Amino acid sequence: MKRVPFVLAGIAALVLTGHLLSAQGAGLRITYLYDNTIATQGTKPDWGFACLLEGRGHTILFDTGTRPDVLRDNMTALKVDPTRVQAVVFSHEHGDHTMGIDALPAIPGLPVFVGEHFRLQPAVVAAFSRMGAKRITVTAEKPIEVFPGFTVTDEIVTGAAYEEALVVDTPEGSVVIVGCAHPGIVLMLKRIAETTKKPIHMVIGGFHLVQTPADDVKRIIADFKALGVALAGPTHCTGDEAIRLFREAYGDHFIAGGVGTVVEAPKAASVPRCSRWPSSRTRLAERDVLGSRLPEWCSDNHEGSGFGGRE
Ligand SMILES: [Zn+2]
Ligand SMILES: [Zn+2]
Repeated sequence: MKRVPFVLAGIAALVLTGHLLSAQGAGLRITYLYDNTIATQGTKPDWGFACLLEGRGHTILFDTGTRPDVLRDNMTALKVDPTRVQAVVFSHEHGDHTMGIDALPAIPGLPVFVGEHFRLQPAVVAAFSRMGAKRITVTAEKPIEVFPGFTVTDEIVTGAAYEEALVVDTPEGSVVIVGCAHPGIVLMLKRIAETTKKPIHMVIGGFHLVQTPADDVKRIIADFKALGVALAGPTHCTGDEAIRLFREAYGDHFIAGGVGTVVEAPKAASVPRCSRWPSSRTRLAERDVLGSRLPEWCSDNHEGSGFGGRE
């Protein structure tokens, strides 16, 4: 596990260098692996979204983009070892967030967090079987802890759009990652703020505002500010005009997207070791053990049924 250097700890001001953004202290590192645009030469753009979260001994893949070959090539170009992935979180059922999963090698027991109502493509389900992945079903009832400090929201729904976000607890507040925010980005953020009872520090991902009139986008930006969102990183399906408005409103606190973007955020909460992690990763995780509480899905009485018969 590549550790995030702590040399930035204590730096009070935000530092923006190209696409690298470092906030107060280090500890959570988010690397964009799949996006409609690129930020790093040698990577490939394609419609879809995926990013890798690394922090305190954990590596989580949030979404997988559309094409396994593109995800694989981008991982190679960005020197990301896919065998290090300890959990996958799907934001929603759409192929541009799920179809790339076949880029991962077989990782028996790999937990994949999937909303109860997501209708996954047969190719995605087949990839789960090949990998020996373990389905963790996310319902509308409550959020699920992926690892302490990393939580999948409950399944949030508006109309026919079911979606879940990944929330990372940091000393600065919640860091929220969304895929397309189909139920509505502000609705999702309000729900997260209510549930966590913590301020939202940063939001990145697709905000799905392609067809939203500029005045409505401005109202959404005002809602972000009212919620206290300090850093905004709209990308993927947000739409060029909405992205421009966020950039204008957030200035130095705007996070530009594109494959290869690296966002370093404040320290994630400490994490313990889970004995049920895939064995190749347990050793890496042990090095960073800071506590003793295990996520619920790790316990023996939360044995998943695998993916074979669930779809
Ligand atoms: Zn979508
Ligand atoms: Zn999308």
